[in-house]
Order: sequence, then structure tokens, then C-alpha cells
Amino acid sequence: MNTNRKILFIVALMLIGLAVATITNVAINFRDYGYNNAIEKSKMTAEIVRDGLTAHMVNGIMDKREFFLSNIANIKDVQALWIVRADNVIKQYGEGMQNEKPRDAIDQKVLNEGITVRKINETSDKAILRVTIPYIASAYGSPNCLTCHNTKEGDVLGAISMEFDINDIRQTGAMTIAKIFAINVIFIIIALWVTNYYFKPYMKLFENLQQGIKRARTGDFTFRFTTTLKDAGSEVAEQMNTLFEKMEDTFGSIKRDLNTFVSRSNISCADPLNTAGTIIKELSDVYKFKKTIELDTTKDAIYERFIYVLKEKFDFAHFALYEVDKNIKERKLIFITGNKNSFCLPITDSNAMECRAYRTASDVYSTDFPNLCSNCTENIEYTCIPFNINEDLSLILSYSAKHTTTIEKMNTLLPSIKNYFEAAKAVIESRTLMDKLRDSSLRDGATRLYNRRFLEEFIDKSAEQAIRSNISYAVLMIDIDYFKMVNDTYGHDAGDIVIKALAEILQLNVRKSDLPVRYGGEEFLILLHNTTQDGALAVAEKIRIHFNEKKFLFGNDTVQKSLSIGISHFPLHADSIWKVIKFADLALYEGKHTGRNRVIEFESRMFNGGDHF
Ligand code: GH3
Ligand code: MG
Ligand code: MG
Repeated sequence: MNTNRKILFIVALMLIGLAVATITNVAINFRDYGYNNAIEKSKMTAEIVRDGLTAHMVNGIMDKREFFLSNIANIKDVQALWIVRADNVIKQYGEGMQNEKPRDAIDQKVLNEGITVRKINETSDKAILRVTIPYIASAYGSPNCLTCHNTKEGDVLGAISMEFDINDIRQTGAMTIAKIFAINVIFIIIALWVTNYYFKPYMKLFENLQQGIKRARTGDFTFRFTTTLKDAGSEVAEQMNTLFEKMEDTFGSIKRDLNTFVSRSNISCADPLNTAGTIIKELSDVYKFKKTIELDTTKDAIYERFIYVLKEKFDFAHFALYEVDKNIKERKLIFITGNKNSFCLPITDSNAMECRAYRTASDVYSTDFPNLCSNCTENIEYTCIPFNINEDLSLILSYSAKHTTTIEKMNTLLPSIKNYFEAAKAVIESRTLMDKLRDSSLRDGATRLYNRRFLEEFIDKSAEQAIRSNISYAVLMIDIDYFKMVNDTYGHDAGDIVIKALAEILQLNVRKSDLPVRYGGEEFLILLHNTTQDGALAVAEKIRIHFNEKKFLFGNDTVQKSLSIGISHFPLHADSIWKVIKFADLALYEGKHTGRNRVIEFESRMFNGGDHF
């Protein structure tokens, strides 16, 4: 029910209530009036009859009483009138006339009990009031009843019964009520019409306001208020319209402005207030993330934070992060959740072009097409997103789920995830550049091997850990025999070629965990990780032989060179790697002095009184 109808209903209810109360009151009053009127009449009649009968009796014309009584009975509204004799009167004077015997139980009751009985007999077409009044013997009246009646004070001498027609009054009452009812109905109709006429526009405006505010709660401020009211009503509508216009403009521009900061296609709520709140929260989260990673010194630390965000903020259960070196087109796994089983095999691609997301530089959604990526080895849903960092580096985020609904839910988070990537992009780029610079300062430009500076840093960082973790190192110190001769005979460039060739041989003959270093001009050092003495000797021999077999063509000459290697072990020979390096150098020195082209293992005799280490 709308408000207008409610008001009309309430007004109608009140007026009807009033009308009912009035009509009921009138009806009751009319009934009481008719009833009391008849009672009074009955009392009067009873007295007249008593006095008349007494007069008849005193005058000795009691036998003429019937005429008197029939005249009395002709009084208006008196339907019937009769008198009855009590037993003591019958005893003294006889039964009297035929019709002076008790006619019904009421007569008998009044004679027996000496009380007045009144009763109304009402049907739809008539209303009769029956009143029976006893005549009680009294010595104090005039005349004194006891002078004529053989009876005592208070005895019932007889009774008079009368029936009054009170239908007239009832009918008059009914007519009055009908008139009042009709007046009320007319009044109610007029009142309702007037109420409706004056209240309807207010109610319409009220409903209009209600509708507009309801829409505003969902963020829609496009509603405009209308009213036929003048003055205050139209002012309210106008002011509300101005307010809504302002809200619409302001939130619209807030939304537009915020959208330029963050991509937010996943924030689909139409409420601009909520949208603004969500965007600001996201902006703030991304900003905090950016501020944090700006203080991270390495690319790996940034990756770790990004992984944390994916796990904790976005609740990703299965995902992998890859790094693609664009120069060598190699995809390297940075992180994978769970048991390291990726649906995308092989995890490390020597050929990054096999990765569809990298190759096409576009998002790969398994939901787009069945068996979209041939690298997927499982029956699952997946999404792979490439993120270009710079001309050297790209990242690939790959996440998966068993059910389509789950992956679709994860996909809705992509715009937010991309915001994090965008925030991280510049920082990763600058860390990559720093890594590159750092790498170039730690590597030898000609051979691309690590240089002495790197070794110093590495040893400082890893020596303690090596002791803690029981890691052993073998140090191979390598120096080309009579190298100066190459320079002197074939020139410096020829010397460089020999050096590069040796660097290649070193790299080819050691494991990935080993560390070949260009230690000085034509001196090299290798840190062999967790190797035995025999193992180190074997590696050294292999290097010596390979280099010795290598043929260089300088002009018309075919040149073969040899090298000498000194070996020492950490922690077997000393508790410091620097000492061990020195011992390897001593062994090399021994090799040089005992004929060159040799591998010599350090012995303590080679070191006399080296307490200064
Ligand atoms: P030995 O057998 O005693 O080692 O004799 P050697 O001639 O090799 O003597 P030494 O090891 O002292 O030789 C070092 C020479 O290596 C001196 C330097 O001119 C040369 N050299 C150092 N670095 C380079 C380089 O980068 N390129 C070239 N072409 N020569 C280098
Ligand atoms: Mg040398
Ligand atoms: Mg040399």
C-alpha cells in the first residue's frame, strides 16, 4: 500500500470510528429514553389506578371499576392493562372480576415477592415494555390501607400489569441513526477527498524522494525529483536535484580520475562511493608494495614480495613465476607453489619461444579454447600472463585450478595483479640494470669469467657458511707456461686468443657448481665445490691435457702451449680459503720450478714458517 493510500485509510478509519461511536451513543440514548419514559408512565399509571380504585372502594362503587380501568387502558402507548388480587384481598373480598387473577408467572412473582418487574419483549417489528408493580399495604398513606384490609403493614394487596408499546421511539431512534449515518458517510467521503486532494502531491514527492534516495544508496545519482507542489515542496525537490547533480558530477570525476591510476575492470560495483573506496584501497596497497620493493636491493627480493602478494592477498594456491632472458630466449623458473610439479613442462625451457604466453606476448586463457597450449600436461584450467619488463627481461605468471569457476574467479583478479606488476616494473628494471652493472664489474670482459673482485666478495660471504655446512673446496691455481713468449712472438692479440681459449677449456671441464675465475693476467683460479683430492687432480689433469692439445694458428705457425697447476684443499690444508689459495700458488710455483706443464698438489713442506697468514 502506498503512503497516500495509507493516510486515506487511517483517516477513513478514524472517521468511521467516530461515526460508530456517535451512532452507538445516539442509539443507546434513544433506547434509554424510550425505556425510562415508559417506566415513568407505568409508575404514574400505577398510582392513578391505585388512587382510582381506592376512590371506587371508598365511594362503594368498586363494582364500577371496570369502566375506569378500560379508560385508563386507552391511554396512548398503553397496549394492555390489568390488575390482579393478592390472596389476602381475595380472602376478604372475594375473587373479584374474572380478569383479576394472575395471568402469568410475572404477576405471580410480583404478588409473592412484592417487587416491581420490568421486561422488554423485542422483535424486529415490535418492542413491548411489560411493567408489573405491586400494591403494598401501608398504614401511613391516605387512606390507611389497614383500615379496610385485614392485613398487615407491608403485605402485597395486588399488582398492576401494563404493557407499553415503545416501538415508536425505537423507530424514531432508527431514523435518527440512519440520518446520522448518512451525514457521516457524506462527511467521510468529503473528508477523504479533501485529504487526498491536499496530501497526494506531498505523498508523491515523498515517494519520489524515497525512490531517489534508494537509488542513491546504490551509487546512482541520476534520479531527478519532480513535484506539482509549490513553495516548500518544490523547493525541497529543487534542492535535492541540485544535490544529486553535484554528487553525480563529483563521483563521476572521482571515478574517472582514480581509473587513470589503476586498472580496475574487476571492480564492477556500480556504487561510485564503494568503487572509490575500493580503488583507493587498491592504490594504497600498490603504493605500499612499491615503497617496500624500492628498498629491496635485489631482483629476487622483489620477486619474493610479489609471490607473497599472490599467495596472501590474492589467495593463489597454484602458480609459477618464470623469468625470460630475452637475449638468449631462455625461460627460467623462479618460483612454483606446492610440490614443484608444474602443469607446464619442461619447467625450464631452453627455448622460451615454446612458451605460448611469451611467444605471442598475450594472455593465455585455457578457458578460451580446448588444449590451447601444447605444453600443458594436465587436465586443468590455466592462465599464463606475460609481463614485459624491458628489452632484456620478461616475466611469465602462470596459475592453474582444477575447476573452470575457480580459474574464472582468479582471472577477475588479473587487473589488480597487473597493477602490482606495473608498480614493480620500474623497480625490477632498475635492479636488473644494477645487476648488469654489478655483473660487468665482477666479470672479466674478455673471457666473461668472474674476476678477482668477485672472488673476494664470494669468499667473504661464503667462507663462514662453508665451515658451518661442511662444504669443502679445492683451489686450482693455473698459469700458462712461458706466455710472455706468445705476446713477444705473435703479438698481444695472439696472447688474448690463447687466454680466451683457456677460459673456454676451464668452463667446459668444470661442473656448474664450480667457480672458474680469471685471477690475474694469464693466471686462473678454480674453486671446485665439494670434491676429493683425487677428483681435483683429475680435473686439473684434464684441463692441463686439453689445453696442451689445443693448437693455435698464428701466421704460418701452429702453436701449442702448456700450463702448470697448483692444487690445495679447504679446509684440509688451511682453515681460511685465502690461505688455501696461497698454498695452491706455492704448489704452482713448485710446478714452474720443476719443469712446468705439471699439476702439483700442495704439501706442507712447500710452506716454511708462513705464520703471517
Ligand atoms: P711463466 O711460465 O713463468 O709463467 O712465464 P710467463 O712468460 O708466462 O711469465 P708470466 O706468467 O709472468 O707472464 C705474464 C705475462 O702475461 C705478462 C703480461 O704481458 C701477459 N699478460 C697478462 N695479461 C695479459 C692479457 O690479458 N693479454 C695478453 N696478451 N697478455 C697478457
Ligand atoms: Mg703468470
Ligand atoms: Mg705464466
